Amino acid sequence: MPDMEGFVIRGVPVIGERDDLASILRSLFDFKDGDVLCIASTIVAKAEGMFRHLKDYRPTKNAEDIAASINRDPRFVQAVLDESKEVLLEKPFLLVVTRFGHIGVNAGIDQSNVGPEMILLLPKDPKASADAIRTALGKDVAVIITDTCGRPFRCGVAAVAVGWAGIGTLRDWRGEADIHGKKLEITLEAVADEIASAANLLMGEAGDGTPAVVFRGLKYPRSGDHLFMPKELDIIRRHLKG
Ligand code: GDP
Ligand code: MN
Ligand code: MN
Repeated sequence: MPDMEGFVIRGVPVIGERDDLASILRSLFDFKDGDVLCIASTIVAKAEGMFRHLKDYRPTKNAEDIAASINRDPRFVQAVLDESKEVLLEKPFLLVVTRFGHIGVNAGIDQSNVGPEMILLLPKDPKASADAIRTALGKDVAVIITDTCGRPFRCGVAAVAVGWAGIGTLRDWRGEADIHGKKLEITLEAVADEIASAANLLMGEAGDGTPAVVFRGLKYPRSGDHLFMPKELDIIRRHLKG
C-alpha cells in the first residue's frame, strides 16, 4: 500500500451558477470514508454565482486614485475594495484582508477562466461552502477549498486552503521529541495548506479543466480550525501597516 494516493477527477464540466458540485463530483468519483477532496475555489465560486461584470462597478474617488497609481482598471479596484475588510498594501499591488479573513492579493478575485470583462470573486464564506459540500457527499470526506496565491519571500505561486471542513488544519508537534530526544516547542504544521498545494500541483493553472483532486490514505488532523493568523500575532502585518 502506498502511503498516500492522489486522484485527479476527470470529466468535470464547465461549471455555471447553481450547478450542484457535490452531485457532479459524486457521479465522477467513488468517494470513500477518510478521503480528502480538494476543490479549486474557482469552481465553488462559479457554482455559487460569484461572477461579476466589470461594467456593474462604480468606482469611488479612492478606487480611482489607487487604480491610477498601480495602473489597473478602477472598476476592478472597486471590486477588490468591496470584498475587503482591510487594505494592507495599495502599491505596487492591492493586498487585502477578505471579508472572511484570508489575506490575498486582489482579494483573490480572478480574471482567468471566466471570460472578457468578467471577474470571479472568491466564495463568500468558503468554510461554509466546504461544509455544505461535505454534508452533501454524505460520507466522511474532508473537503478543502484551494486557491492559488503568490507568497511573500518566495518566487512562484502555490495553493493555500481558503475553506475546509471535516479536517483539522494544523498538526501540533509541540511536546513531541525530535531524533535526539529534544522536545519540540513551537512547531504547528499547516497540513491543510500542504494538502492544498499538493492538489494544486495536480490541478494545473490554465486550461487543464481539472479543478478537483482526491487524496486517499492520508492521515490528517481531525481538530483545529486555524490558518488565518490572528491580527494581534501577525508581526509582518503590523509592519506592513507602518
Ligand atoms: P484557482 O486556483 O482556484 O483560482 O483556480 P484556477 O483558475 O487556477 O483553476 C484551477 C483548475 O480548475 C485548472 O485546471 C482549470 O483549468 C480548472 N477549471 C477552472 N474552471 C473550471 C470549470 O468550470 N470546469 C472545469 N472542468 N475546470 C475548471
Ligand atoms: Mn484564484
Ligand atoms: Mn489556480
